[in-house]
Formats: sequence, C-alpha cells, structure tokens
Amino acid sequence: MRTALVVPAAGRGERLGAGRPKALVELDGRPLLVHALERAVASGVIDVIAVACPPGAVEHVRILLEGALPVEPLLVEGAGDRQASVWAALSALPADADVVLVHDAARCLTPPAVFADVVRAVRAGAAGVVPVLPVTDTVKRVRGGRVVETVDRAELQAVQTPQGFRTAVLRAVHDAARGAPATDDAGLLEAAGHRVHVVPGAEEAFKVTRPLDLVLARALLAAGNADPPVPEGGTDRER
Ligand code: C5P
Repeated sequence: MRTALVVPAAGRGERLGAGRPKALVELDGRPLLVHALERAVASGVIDVIAVACPPGAVEHVRILLEGALPVEPLLVEGAGDRQASVWAALSALPADADVVLVHDAARCLTPPAVFADVVRAVRAGAAGVVPVLPVTDTVKRVRGGRVVETVDRAELQAVQTPQGFRTAVLRAVHDAARGAPATDDAGLLEAAGHRVHVVPGAEEAFKVTRPLDLVLARALLAAGNADPPVPEGGTDRER
C-alpha cells in the first residue's frame, strides 16, 4: 500500500501578477512549490510524488528540487487548466499507489498534519476526503447586479487541499470527465455519485492567489507561525 501526492503547479498566476508562474514565486527565498512539498513530505505519509510543472519549466523545476526532498518527485509538464494538469501528473504515477492526495502548490503553508488526517480518513474507507473550514463571511447569490438570496452560512464550508482519494476512483472519474470542467477533484467524484467525506482544514492552508495572500504568507513565516516541517512521527494534531 503506497500513498502518492499529485501537485498541480502549472498555473500562470495571473491574479498574483508576479511575472512568473505562481508555484515558482519565492517566499523567504524558496519557491511556493518547495514550501508545499516540504510540508507534505514532513507529514511522513507520502511515498511517491508527481508534480505538474509550468509548461516549458520541467528542467528548471528539476534543478530547483535537486536534493531538496527525501523523495525525488516525478516531473511532468502541466496543461492549460488545473484538471488537465492533475490528469497529466496522475498518469505518471506508478500502478501500486492505492491512495492519492491532490494538493495545490499554491496552498504552500498547509500544515503536515492535514496530509496525515486526509490519508487516515481515506484508509478508513472513504472514496474521497476534503479538508474544510467554516465560511465566515455572509454569502449572497447575486444575479444581474441584484441580490436574489442570502445563502444559509451554517450549511457552507470552504474546501481546501490536499484532497484524498482511492487512486482507482480518482483515475476513473478524471478519465470519464476529461474536458468537463470541475473546480476541484472531489467535485468529479460527487458528480459520479461517490460520497465525499470531510476532515477539519487549517487556516494556514489558504491558497496564495492575490498579492495580499503573499503578504500574509510572508508574515506567517516571519512569525514562525506557519507550522514548519516537523520530523516524521510528529504529525498528530492536538485538538
Ligand atoms: O489558479 P488556481 O490558484 O486556482 O490554481 C490552483 C492550483 O492549480 C495551483 O497550484 C496552480 O499552479 C495549479 N494549476 C495547474 N495548471 C493550470 C492551472 C492551475 O497546475 N493550468
């Protein structure tokens, strides 16, 4: 039984406006991708890694990651949308990985314990598992510039990554859905009728999307408050 990690890292990062692919933007001297992989590996639950690199940057990423991790990642070229990038990395995995996590490089400060919690929930029998946090803003449905509904916030959860799956199930739903868009991988399982379970997410697992997110990430790192890599065995969250 082996656990794989698939990291879509091929986004252009237009909303961040950093002039280079988002996963390669540096935080504290190291790219977001390296921060994300370090925290994943520190969970102690990952055996094999496949990264979807920005188009044309596979060799650049290979050099960046040389000797950086105890597990040498498989590198593939990403594609035009996130789903296609995930598919490309998923296709590179060895056949014996029975559980797979899909994790956005952009959620670069996700604590190691979240990876361990998601894998534990998949190994306990779930086909799909997502980390979630309660929504804190009031959310309204707006059409044509007018509010048509205030959605009951008590029923809403914001979904993060890593999302965990039985590999065969994820491959099947991606294969069946190729082309049909979904904003996350669990959405493909839901559409195919699979039950998706939840585990608690983490505030540090926010997605670096806009310039303000980089300010927050830098502040968390400077404050030593971003759950830096911990040794294997030290991953259980105290709640
Ligand atoms: O654009 P967004 O922030 O939603 O992207 C989420 C993750 O998917 C990022 O880590 C990004 O690098 C990745 N992605 C990708 N290939 C794309 C678009 C996004 O791997 N074509």
